[in-house]
Amino acid sequence: MKIIMLGAPGAGKGTQAKMIAEKYDVPHVSTGDIFRANIKNGTELGMEAKKYMDEGLLVPDELTVRILLDRVAQEDCRKGYVLDGFPRTIPQAEVLDEALGKTGSKIDYAINVEVPDENIVKRMSGRRACLSCGATYHVEHVPPQKEGICDVCGKELVLRDDDKAETVRNRLDVYHKQTQPLIDFYQAKGILHSVDGTADMNDVFAAITEILG
Ligand code: ADP
Ligand code: AMP
Repeated sequence: MKIIMLGAPGAGKGTQAKMIAEKYDVPHVSTGDIFRANIKNGTELGMEAKKYMDEGLLVPDELTVRILLDRVAQEDCRKGYVLDGFPRTIPQAEVLDEALGKTGSKIDYAINVEVPDENIVKRMSGRRACLSCGATYHVEHVPPQKEGICDVCGKELVLRDDDKAETVRNRLDVYHKQTQPLIDFYQAKGILHSVDGTADMNDVFAAITEILG
């Protein structure tokens, strides 16, 4: 089962992708997490990606596509995967389709998590991330057991640099211009399914499992 998560930054793609990965036993592949891990480890790729991420811009397609195709070529992705944060542009989607087509495969579901812009800035300012294991929390909706500490690995939680209000507004602009067209792209392929992302996260997940079966 190959699934794509669509939606604005902060819509809850990562939250739902993790739940899907667990229930359907497929890897959760997040390009944002891959970039952040590279930034943390000080790799060349990380330094390059950081220039764009800090501004709320997209990392260039060429670099992003290379990273993603390397990742999904790994053994654990054979049974399928849930992509979170990729594709974010039409060219990325086309390259993915072409790569899958070569192996006689395709994306099965594109799940669009809908949350209006007004809700997003508030959500993002409350998001807390663990840069060690990739877990995410929300100060109000999903608090960790101990404030500021990751339940999973015990490391310190941070407000991501790109979750500050001004950067979030840039990211929303970028989303509307470059990523939203993917909704029509997948609609035309007949695999688009939209869910109300403003609902409680367990209700959002229930709606998604209805779709995935
Ligand atoms: P994305 O991966 O789309 O950027 P996240 O999954 O990281 O978004 O969610 C953004 C923030 O909103 C996080 O702090 C997360 O805990 C919180 N969140 C996710 N889903 C919901 C929901 N249904 N209701 C309220 N808060 C949510
Ligand atoms: P995310 O964790 O998905 O919110 O991604 C954080 C940031 O990483 C984005 O704002 C982009 O700068 C970059 N990024 C992640 N995925 C992509 C992608 N598919 N294409 C371009 N940039 C990306």
